[in-house]
Amino acid sequence: MLEVNNLCAAYGLHHALSGASLRVDRGEIVVILGANGAGKSTLLKAVSGICEGQVSGSVLMNGQELVGLRADQIVEHGIALVPEGRGIFPDLNVEENLMLGAYSPRARDGADETLERIYALFPKLRERRKQGVRTMSGGEQQMVAIGRAMMSNPAVLTLDEPSLGLAPVLCKELFANLKTVRDTGIGILLVEQNARASLAIADRGYLLENAQIIHEDSAEKLARDPAVQKAYLGGDGGRKAAPPAPMKTSAPRPPLGPSPSDIAASAMRGFAVPAPVPSPPVVAAPIVVPPPAPITPPQSSRVHGIEIGALVAQASSLSQRQPTNARPMPTPPAAPKRPAMPDIGAHGDRLQTMLQEIETAAANARQRTAPSNGRSGRKQT
Ligand code: ATP
Repeated sequence: MLEVNNLCAAYGLHHALSGASLRVDRGEIVVILGANGAGKSTLLKAVSGICEGQVSGSVLMNGQELVGLRADQIVEHGIALVPEGRGIFPDLNVEENLMLGAYSPRARDGADETLERIYALFPKLRERRKQGVRTMSGGEQQMVAIGRAMMSNPAVLTLDEPSLGLAPVLCKELFANLKTVRDTGIGILLVEQNARASLAIADRGYLLENAQIIHEDSAEKLARDPAVQKAYLGGDGGRKAAPPAPMKTSAPRPPLGPSPSDIAASAMRGFAVPAPVPSPPVVAAPIVVPPPAPITPPQSSRVHGIEIGALVAQASSLSQRQPTNARPMPTPPAAPKRPAMPDIGAHGDRLQTMLQEIETAAANARQRTAPSNGRSGRKQT
């Protein structure tokens, strides 16, 4: 299903990932173990299309190449990321956070059913559906983050350190939840510091050291391997006894994976209107002009009574107003711009206005009777 071949990522001169190859099949949990700075997050980000560095190599999803695609296109291919730090919106309630995961066209049509499925898997989320996420425990917030990723109807779920900061009892619940997700047939690629707990639920694992995958085996064998026990399972209750991180030669590092702003930006992109179809050139022979691509968002964007477009706009404005993350991090000075994800903090107002305009234009178009009037013709960003 997911096949990574010779994947490399570099931040300037620093090679954070060198020639990584791995695979994740349907309904299996694959864990990546490695020391701090080994390149685990970089690997997940490169797979998800949000790596700030230079990425090369191959990521195939059901045979389709994903390297070079935008993050929202990769979501469309069935890969969802639960980023380190969760990236949830504390000022929205549980259901609103979940619905944000349904922005992609892949997810929007069946969003009602998907939501029901997630509520059936995690009844706690249904019980708390109207609770503001800010008031939830870390474990519950992590469940919201996983639920939101599942709303995109993924075939592979990737998770970056989901147990980070969770009390042991919540970790136990989290890992049990991941098994539940796996049992639905979703493949899981898991980066975890809690080696003992992750190997206990995983099917296979890879060891990543100094940017390279150095070993692969079944989770059972890895857990019994003396070298793995020494490096990752020794003396600290299963938290890794990490070898020292390599010396860094890289540029200053932005704090975390995708923030709520990134996620809102990506959602905005999911609502972009397709580029207007160019007028046909004047030629002698009659040509068939393909019908314009439908504007997808407004037609199926109301799910469980929630208008996803409006929700995205709300989330976007919230993400500009305050540092929303459950793990607040200092703003790095002059962080390098991420090519794939526009800084919505700077462009949020314009994007919100555009979103509203797009929805108004689409609503107007639906009301008109003449078929040729159905296009807003608005410029795409
Ligand atoms: P941890 O367990 O501490 O999260 P990791 O294995 O996930 O570590 P990465 O976050 O992938 O490691 O980082 C790998 C290397 O790349 C590190 O040396 C890190 O400093 C560097 N790095 C990561 N992101 C960036 C960035 N955006 N710009 C520059 N260097 C980066």
